[in-house]
This record gives sequence, C-alpha cells and structure tokens, in this order.
Amino acid sequence: MKPVIALIGRPNVGKSTLFNRLTRSRDALVADLPGLTRDRHYGEGRVGDRPFLVIDTGGFEPVAKEGIVHEMAKQTKQAVAEADVVVFIVDGRQGLTPHDKTITDYLRKSNRPVMLVVNKAEGMKYTSVTAEFYELGMGDPYVISAAHGDGVNDLVREAIDFALKNGPELEDDAEEDENQRGVRIALVGRPNVGKSTLVNTLLGEERVIAFDMPGTTRDSIEIPFERDGKPYSLIDTAGIRRRGKVFEAIEKFSVVKTLQSISEANVVVLMLDAQQDISEQDAHIAGFVLESGRALVVAINKWDGLDGDKRDEIKIDIERKLNFLTFAKFHFISALKSTGIGPLLKSVDSAYAAAMAKLPTPKLTRALQEAVEHQQPKRKGSIRPKMRYAHQGGQNPPVIVIHGNSLEAISDSYKRYLEKHFRDTFSLIGTPLRIELRNGK
Ligand code: GDP
Ligand code: GDP
Repeated sequence: MKPVIALIGRPNVGKSTLFNRLTRSRDALVADLPGLTRDRHYGEGRVGDRPFLVIDTGGFEPVAKEGIVHEMAKQTKQAVAEADVVVFIVDGRQGLTPHDKTITDYLRKSNRPVMLVVNKAEGMKYTSVTAEFYELGMGDPYVISAAHGDGVNDLVREAIDFALKNGPELEDDAEEDENQRGVRIALVGRPNVGKSTLVNTLLGEERVIAFDMPGTTRDSIEIPFERDGKPYSLIDTAGIRRRGKVFEAIEKFSVVKTLQSISEANVVVLMLDAQQDISEQDAHIAGFVLESGRALVVAINKWDGLDGDKRDEIKIDIERKLNFLTFAKFHFISALKSTGIGPLLKSVDSAYAAAMAKLPTPKLTRALQEAVEHQQPKRKGSIRPKMRYAHQGGQNPPVIVIHGNSLEAISDSYKRYLEKHFRDTFSLIGTPLRIELRNGK
C-alpha cells in the first residue's frame, strides 16, 4: 500500500504550495475534464518509482480564543490519524509562533511519527533558519523551499522511508498469485449506497474460498470469491468489515482508505444510489478513480422499486453529472434483490481486458492512418501537423504514443476524436485511455 503523508501546520506556512508541487504531474491529467469535481486535499505523488498519498490539511483555520487544538477541524484529526507520517511545516521566515507549539503538543499526543520541516528557507543557512525550532523538541528539522523545490524530493524520500519503517510490513506485491486471485475489484462509494449489501450478495451466492483480515491500521481486506467458475477478489479498505456472518459498513467514510483500495485494484466498481441525488461526494470519488487511471465500471444501485419515469429521470441526471466517465459501462442493479450482478461482473472482466490490452504497433499505425484519412487535423496558421506512426507506451491504462511533426498544433478536440477512434477500433471500453503526442522519431 502507498504510504500516506499528511501535511500539517498553521495557515500560510506553505502547505498547499508543497501539496501542489507534490501532486502537480497528476493534476495535469484531469485538468481539462469538464464537470469533474476534485478534492484538492488529497493527491497522489511520486518520487522516482515510489508512489505515495498526500493529504493537505489547508482547510483548517484556528480560532484564537479557543486554541488551535479545539478548533482543529475533524478532517485534520482524521488526516493525522490516517497518516503513516506527519510532515509538520513551520515558516522559516516568520519564525516560531505559539501556534506551532500548540500543534506540536497535539502531534505529540497523537503518537504519529512526525517530521519537522522548516519551509521558505530558500537562500538561508541551515543553522540560522533552524535554530529557534529546536525548542519544539522534535530533533533536527528538515529544511525546504516548497516554492522553489529545494529539498523537497529528499524530504519525500525520507518521509517514505520513515513511513515504511514505522508502519507494518508491506505485503510483497508479487504477481505470482495474480492468476489465482483473479481480477481484483475495489468497490467504492459513499456511505449507504449499498456496498456491504453487494459484498454479501456476491459472497452469499458463491462459495467463499477463504477469508483473512489483518488487524493493523493500514489493513486492507481481500476477499476472494468465485463466480461462474472464475476467481475474483474484492479489495476492501473502504470501511466495510465483517461482523458475525455478514459484512457491514462500520466506519465513517475515509478518503484515504478509498484511495488505497483504488490503487490496489485492477478494476474499480463505483457504486451510486439511484434513490438519492448524485452528490458532490459521489463526484469526488469518481474524480479519484479517474485520476488513478484504473479501469472502471459504474453500478447504480437500488434500481428496484423505481417506476419508469423515475428511472428515465435518474438516467438523465447521471448522464449530465458524470459526463466525464463516458468511457465506463453503467449498470443498473439491485444489490438487495440480486439483479444485474452477472452483467456487472462481465463488464468488470471486459474493463480489465481493455486496461491490459496489447496493441501492436502495425495495428495502431493502421488505425491512426484510418483516422487521418477520415478526418485530417486542422492547420494552425501555416502549420499542418503530420502524424507518422503510433505505438503503445503503457498498459493499465493504455497509453498510445503518436509520433510525428508539429504535433503541438493538434487541438484538444482532434485528440478526443483520435481517442474515440482508437477506442472503437480496439474495443477499449471501461478503461481510461491516454494519448501522447511526440515530435520527432
Ligand atoms: P498554507 O496556508 O499553509 O497552505 O500556505 P500556502 O501554500 O498557501 O502559502 C502561503 C504563502 O507562502 C503563499 O504566499 C506562498 O506563495 C508562500 N510560500 C509557500 N512556500 C514558500 C517558500 O518556499 N518560500 C517562500 N518565500 N514563500 C513560500
Ligand atoms: P454501504 O454503507 O455502502 O455499505 O451501504 P449498505 O450496504 O449498508 O446499505 C445501506 C442501506 O441501503 C441498507 O439499508 C440496505 O438495505 C439498503 N440497500 C442496499 N442495496 C439496496 C438495493 O439494491 N435496493 C434497496 N432498495 N435498498 C438497498
């Protein structure tokens, strides 16, 4: 599982600046999708080949009278509790303040591993910028400039090492048992949409092969099951736990756990409640799935007991609000009555196959030529982009790299046209697809 880093500190010390720097590359991928709400406080970052999750607690404003601790938003507390390592940021230009001390006391009580980081230290000497912060009793501070990037990569590497040392053993993610375990499905959605009901339905109908539940704070349960003789496993870290014989949602919603399940899965099933409006939280969760690049199937649950008019109304609403998920299949199901489950799993299979598709260069190049013959890219001024060939640059999600000249002149709408053409040609349903344009050979 990805280590979780929480950024904590009083307002204006530079938390969002650091957050943006850490998650920047990811943001760009979804920046141009209309209708997508994203939660600016959770993001994924990477140093080298090491991914991590980062939580910004920027939203919290202390009320002076009450004291910072009392006013610390619930979310901030949850972030601290869920973090593998807390990066506690102070301001090297403003110096030590009483609020910093209050936060220190809080963090000490929380018993989480903490790294003290002095920000805004560009152009300053280590000894002079850190001197007064030793008073906090947190050892040698790290020194960075979030704005300029100085020291940020080193900080993150240390934070990840720190998290791994302090956290429970990581499962080794060997692929050997991949086939045995089958497609790994993350079932995500806000509370009460019917996730545990679906888990119970899936497991009740089919033989449960085994069940294990590690008891750590970073626990993830993986529940293997079979359907029509095929193995699957449900990755569930999103707040469903076994109670007696059945699974129940017993925790409040956790973004971190949702993100962790998404990143461990091959295919995400996003569950919505047909009997409630699509909410901001639904769109947030959808945004996380999209950002992850995972294959996706949407399950609109509680389809039972709705009349025809209501159903049409819901379909229109969903189409309007989730128009950025057009690559995914939508299923209207009832977890309670066990309807629509078979087709849902079929879509899970095909989404997985699409995500893992191997696209040979000659076929891709032929598809590219067909697309161009059917519709040329527009000139930009006197420049006409020239596309030569295409190759596959990655899987899960598939990345198609197009080589040629003056490709910067290709418009976003033409890119979308190409994407659709590739999707149709190779039946890439249920997976995001990325098109990259590369000038030169
Ligand atoms: P937050 O409230 O903790 O999220 O703080 P912000 O990220 O919004 O930053 C507060 C202010 O500090 C902004 O004006 C930033 O431009 C500035 N800032 C952030 N990081 C640095 C830094 O490394 N050096 C300097 N000089 N300013 C910074
Ligand atoms: P979770 O919080 O997402 O795990 O949701 P639960 O599985 O606990 O379900 C929340 C409520 O919705 C419970 O009262 C379920 O009985 C009900 N529910 C779940 N699935 C369906 C369904 O397909 N149809 C109807 N009518 N109710 C359902």
